[in-house]
Amino acid sequence: MTLKQALNRARGILVANNIEEAHLECELLLRQALRVSQVQLYLDLDHELGSKEEEDFWHLIKRRLGGEPTAYITGHREFYGLDFYVEPSVFIPRPESELLVEKALKLAQNHTVSSIAEIGTGCGAIAISLALNLPQAKIYATDISASALKVALFNCQKHGVVNRICLLQGDMLNPLPEPVDLIIANLPYVKEVELPQIGPAGFEPLAALNGGWDGLEKIRQLCQQVGDRLCPEGSLLLEIGQGQVRAVTTFLCRLFPSAKIEVVPDLSGIDRVVSLTFSTATAGEPEFDTNLPDVKLGNWVLA
Ligand code: GLN
Repeated sequence: MTLKQALNRARGILVANNIEEAHLECELLLRQALRVSQVQLYLDLDHELGSKEEEDFWHLIKRRLGGEPTAYITGHREFYGLDFYVEPSVFIPRPESELLVEKALKLAQNHTVSSIAEIGTGCGAIAISLALNLPQAKIYATDISASALKVALFNCQKHGVVNRICLLQGDMLNPLPEPVDLIIANLPYVKEVELPQIGPAGFEPLAALNGGWDGLEKIRQLCQQVGDRLCPEGSLLLEIGQGQVRAVTTFLCRLFPSAKIEVVPDLSGIDRVVSLTFSTATAGEPEFDTNLPDVKLGNWVLA
């Protein structure tokens, strides 16, 4: 069987098993079995697979059919054009989280962003993407999980940013030694009852996905802490899940009535990133206000 025939056959099997990115995943798995680059794979498409190579490839396909994510099988995941090492102790970075990075870089064009804290860094993808694109910024990346931080450290070494990112173990903002200009986080936001239904269930760490009874427990917890952990005119960027925008913006609006809140949709049109920016007058302790003012949300207004 040639490489091309093996790819076609495996793709048909993955498609029949409702694996969305069958084409890409087969290619990644074949490259893993043969330990070759993408270019080499394309050059060798008409070569015959050796029997050991064929056996290795079908073994990987079998693991994939058992539900194991390709990223854990290969140990690689691409994010923001960079290659990250991943293993089951960390959440696999999703393409929609690239929006958080884009939004942070845009923010840095108009605001001083000389210090950043990424909360719940996992494999470090967001913090490392920011470090490489904002060479002047000092970056903290926290995670409650020591094994996740080991993976983040490995990725910092891989991308040459060990001296740029300070990895800290602890819950939420607790380990932060000083206020920063930007707090950025993709916290767990899946409702507890929906956890068994999500894709790679049983493989990814639940702690990275479980947002409690309504999915927003961790997000609320962080928002309540940011008041004195952001510099004056600092910003908070949060990734949220489908259908959570109203609850999150209402909550933020109550906590920080005069901060500017914006919502950014992802490529599928789902409101994915919430950004909150303090003006000098609004930084500091949260103010509780039961009368909700009008808040500008991108192009629309929440009363
Ligand atoms: N977007 C992820 C998913 O759907 C959830 C990420 C999160 O909880 N932060 O699996």
